[in-house]
Amino acid sequence: MPDVRNCRRCGKIYNHIGGPPICPACREADEEDFKRVKEYLYENPGATLSEVSSTLDISVEKIKMYLKEGRLEIVGDEGNIVLECENCGRSIRTGRLCNECSKMLVKDFSSTAKQMKSRLDPPETSKKPFEMRYLNKTEKK
Ligand SMILES: [Zn+2]
Ligand SMILES: [Zn+2]
Repeated sequence: MPDVRNCRRCGKIYNHIGGPPICPACREADEEDFKRVKEYLYENPGATLSEVSSTLDISVEKIKMYLKEGRLEIVGDEGNIVLECENCGRSIRTGRLCNECSKMLVKDFSSTAKQMKSRLDPPETSKKPFEMRYLNKTEKK
């Protein structure tokens, strides 16, 4: 079954084959822009986001998107760091979270998974008659 979708960028209907929800034409244009940004940064390490944007005529949002997707990594020193960790606001070079927060998130996720598991199969103690009486009491209020 073909996965037919609307391109998020131009609105055209296309056959989705995975990856970002954009049509092949837009994807090609996207790749082209991505390559230009990458080459520019390679030749001009330390270039700022607005510099890249105005020189190549590619929107700042688009370049930021490449960075958030982790396809592009900012090279050089502090000067051109434009991304912030979505959790703590620290400057990061690529992706959406800083190292600490992504580590924390993984820990969080595994403890949530544990909680969910214990909720799914409650320990025997929660079936004590005491809790039944307690429930009846609150219902009468
Ligand atoms: Zn498109
Ligand atoms: Zn963080």
